[in-house]
Amino acid sequence: MKIQEADAKRLLLAQGLPVPEWEVARTPAEARAAAERLLTRADKVVIKAQVLVGGRGKAGGVKLAGSPAEAETTAATILGMSIKGSVVRKVLVAPAADIVREYYLSAVLDRAGRRILLMGSAEGGVEIEQVAAERPDAIVTIHADPLLGLEDWQARTIAFRMGLGGQLKAAVAIAKGLVRTMLANDADLVEINPLAIVREAGADGQPAERLVCLDAKVTLDDSALYRHPELEAFRDPDEEDPVDAEARAAGINFIHLDGTIGCMVNGAGLAMTTMDLVKRAGGEPANFLDIGGGAKADKVAAAMRLILADPKVEAILVNIFGGITRGDEVAHGLIEARGQQVREVPMIVRIVGTNATEAAELLRAARFETAASLDEAAEKAVAAAKAASAA
Ligand code: GDP
Ligand code: MN
Repeated sequence: MKIQEADAKRLLLAQGLPVPEWEVARTPAEARAAAERLLTRADKVVIKAQVLVGGRGKAGGVKLAGSPAEAETTAATILGMSIKGSVVRKVLVAPAADIVREYYLSAVLDRAGRRILLMGSAEGGVEIEQVAAERPDAIVTIHADPLLGLEDWQARTIAFRMGLGGQLKAAVAIAKGLVRTMLANDADLVEINPLAIVREAGADGQPAERLVCLDAKVTLDDSALYRHPELEAFRDPDEEDPVDAEARAAGINFIHLDGTIGCMVNGAGLAMTTMDLVKRAGGEPANFLDIGGGAKADKVAAAMRLILADPKVEAILVNIFGGITRGDEVAHGLIEARGQQVREVPMIVRIVGTNATEAAELLRAARFETAASLDEAAEKAVAAAKAASAA
């Protein structure tokens, strides 16, 4: 699950990391009020679109304002703006930082290495993928120990190699804090870009430099969310894909893919096998979909809606192995779903196991196309999809 910058910053703050204060505004008037408060401590405020996509700066979603009135008009241009398909519904307002230099620092789950990987670069601010592609030597990496976490010497090594020797203590604290943030929340990514040296008025009124997290991106491991019920509050209903939201509400395991053959299967293993067989028959699955055990008719109908929400779907392959799930229940669900279907798509059904005979009768009466074996079903579905895309 991706979370908004403001929420990611809350997780960083909870680990004691240096994050400039901020407020979240949903209207230009709220942005103005926030700016009134924050401009007592800075010359300008920065107004940032809160959307779950990167590159907001480049898209015009990050702007400075020097007065409450300007904050209001600037917020008015950013709110409602669409960035990479996401509509901006809220903005973050913060005292604008006087940036001396921008760095990049992230902690990411390295699945192959089975460790947390720290990545740092003195080339911050820009997209790290670009740095990685053009100048891979500009990125320094180090693995945290799975038992000991990130040790001090490791944090110092990465800080020196990033050119942050002048901010060593702060850099070490931040690097270690990223790893703690990751472990405390079961995150799979904690990214600070930019991590910035900023100029501020020190305690004596003289300018002083400080290392702060100006941006934050955190993605949480969905499979571990049950361990952090409080993080559910960070789920942004405005930005969640409606199809994903419906799948979650219906208790269906659904992953959208790029192909043309919608698959409805019970059981994760059978769903994977079905996708393999679709591929072997020369097709591409449009999704992974596991309706789970004991699915009733309404769940089948919900699964059908999810599949048909994808305009690329040209054929549907239903593969049910009845155990706890009863074949006739699924057949009823399919009949009901077809009655509500907004789009005509060929469907090939294979139901075996519990109440398969009853299912076959129902499907025959409703004139469904069926298949006796899984291979036959996959071949028929692929042929139907090809015929549909040729038509
Ligand atoms: P992103 O483009 O979505 O990654 O959004 P960021 O929060 O990283 O902002 C993009 C860029 O805007 C940063 O790299 C900075 O150059 C600039 N920026 C962000 N916050 C401030 C700020 O407080 N002051 C100044 N001067 N620039 C900022
Ligand atoms: Mn950024």
